[in-house]
Amino acid sequence: MSTSDLVDVSNADSIVEGSTAEELNRVDVPKTAQPLRIYWLYLVPLVILHVMALLAFVPWFFSWSGLVVAILGHFVFGMLGITVGYHRLLTHRGFTCPKWLEHTFALFGICNLQDSPARWVAIHRMHHQHSDHQPDPHTPMASLFWSHMGWVLYHNRDHDSLTSFERYARDLLKDPFYLKLERRGLWVKIFWLHAAIITALGGLFGLATVGPSGVIQMAASWLVWGVFVRTLVVLHGTWSVNSIGHVFGYKNYKTRDDSRNNWFVALISHGEGWHNNHHAQPRVAHHGHRWFEFDMSWWVIRILESVGLAKDVVRAKKLPMIHDH
Ligand SMILES: [Zn+2]
Ligand SMILES: [Zn+2]
Repeated sequence: MSTSDLVDVSNADSIVEGSTAEELNRVDVPKTAQPLRIYWLYLVPLVILHVMALLAFVPWFFSWSGLVVAILGHFVFGMLGITVGYHRLLTHRGFTCPKWLEHTFALFGICNLQDSPARWVAIHRMHHQHSDHQPDPHTPMASLFWSHMGWVLYHNRDHDSLTSFERYARDLLKDPFYLKLERRGLWVKIFWLHAAIITALGGLFGLATVGPSGVIQMAASWLVWGVFVRTLVVLHGTWSVNSIGHVFGYKNYKTRDDSRNNWFVALISHGEGWHNNHHAQPRVAHHGHRWFEFDMSWWVIRILESVGLAKDVVRAKKLPMIHDH
C-alpha cells in the first residue's frame, strides 16, 4: 500500500451499514508493545510534570495572573496547537492555511509535551486506521488506563520505527521544518524554551507590579500555573478523548469502532469530545454535527476561513444518524 493510500485509509469514513454495529471483542495491547517495557524517556518527564503541578496546592505559588496565563495557554497551546493544529490540520487535513500559520500552530502544539508533530500525526493516523482493532495504539478494549496514558509509558516498536514514520507521516517529513524538529530532540528543547520564556515574563510582571521583591514569586507562579498545570490539563484532556471518548457517551453514527460523543470531554478539549462524529467522517473540520454539539475549535477555523486564512475547509456530508431510524 502506498503512503498516500495509507493516509487516505486513515482518513476514510468509518460508517458501518446495517442494523447492528459490529461486535467488538476485547483487544490486547498492540503486539509491537509486548512484552511491556517502560519507556523511561516519557515516564520520567511525565512523573516530574505531575509532581510539579502539585505545587499548585501550595498557596505561595498562586497568583491571579498565573491563573490567567494558564487559561490563556489552554486556548493558545492546547486548542490552537493540538486541536486545530496537530489534529484537524496536520493529521486530517481538514483545511489548509499558509505555511507560516501551519508552522506556528505546530510550534504551539509542541508546547504541550505531546510528542513532535510527525510522531503525533503518525500515531493518530494509526489509531484511525485500526480504531478499536489490533494494532490500535490506544484502545480502551485493552484497558481504560492503557487507552488514557498507559500506551505513552511503554515502548511500542511501531511508534519509533522509521518505517512507521515513512508510512504514516511522509507528507509531513517532506517539509524540512518538521524533519528538523525530529533531530536531536529539538522539539523537547522548544518545550523547555517556551517554559523559560513564560517564567521570565512572570518575573518581569512581578517586577512591574510588585517590585524587586515580587520577581521570584511571580516567576515561580507563572511556571507552576502557566506551564506545569496547563500542560497537565491539556495532556489529560487529549488523553480523555482516547479513553473516555471510546467508552462513555452516545453515538450519532454506527462506526466500526466504539467511539462516543461525550459533552464533558468536548468541554475540556475544545470540541474534540464529539469523537463518534469524528470517527465517522475523520477529515471533517467541524466535530459537532448536531445543533447542541458545541465545538469551539470549529469556531476558530470558521473565523480563520472568514478572514481568508483557512481554505479548502472540509464539511460534513449528510449521513444517516442512528436517531433517524
Ligand atoms: Zn478515537
Ligand atoms: Zn482524529
